[in-house]
Amino acid sequence: MSRPLRIGILGGTFDPVHIGHLRSALEVAELLELDEMRLVPCARPPHREAPNRSADHRLAMVRCAVGGQLPLRVDDRELRREKPSYTLDTLESLRAELGPEPKLYLLLGWDAFCGLPSWHRWLELLDHCHILVLQRPDADTELPEALRNLLAARSVADPRALSGSAGQIAFVWQTPLAVSATQIRQLLAAGRSVRFLVPDSVLAYINTHGLYRAPH
Ligand code: ATP
Repeated sequence: MSRPLRIGILGGTFDPVHIGHLRSALEVAELLELDEMRLVPCARPPHREAPNRSADHRLAMVRCAVGGQLPLRVDDRELRREKPSYTLDTLESLRAELGPEPKLYLLLGWDAFCGLPSWHRWLELLDHCHILVLQRPDADTELPEALRNLLAARSVADPRALSGSAGQIAFVWQTPLAVSATQIRQLLAAGRSVRFLVPDSVLAYINTHGLYRAPH
């Protein structure tokens, strides 16, 4: 009997996509032997300020970064929706397409995970997916009380031991990269280089379109 599909989901503003996103996505894909790792740019993040770059630019940069490097893929469903980007809607639409069997893994950096209790119907997320929490060496966010209880009830020590198609939480100790999109935007606005923090293809796109430069 063939094993169920294993699909990872990394959502974000990707303003711009950087090596912190890409290494995490790739390392989790290898660790869990994923069939696909989908990068899902969000349109209008409901719980943070709207990004400055258009959705088209952010999507184009993610496409440049991923290229044809399977199992990484770009999933633009949130940009095709006329609504705020609720992760729950994304998971429901993936389940409607894929059915109940595939194992879905939602990747969240530590900062995003700590913000979970402010998300739309957040407790229902685990009905549709497992959650993998990525370490972020630059994050100093404290775990909220509501998540302590959730972790006590739902976490497993080894991400490879997550069982069933959804419902559990594990931490992933991927290569720690203290890189953020905020830092990249600040460097560019200050006229500094971001080479090696983003793939060369993304750097070329940023330069071609003059993104993130301070206005003269
Ligand atoms: P910003 O600095 O604009 O807040 P960001 O670098 O956090 O952006 P997002 O697009 O908001 O990037 O992140 C998408 C997801 O990737 C989030 O879950 C976030 O926690 C995670 N992430 C971002 N950077 C890293 C990193 N360096 N290591 C691990 N996870 C990361």
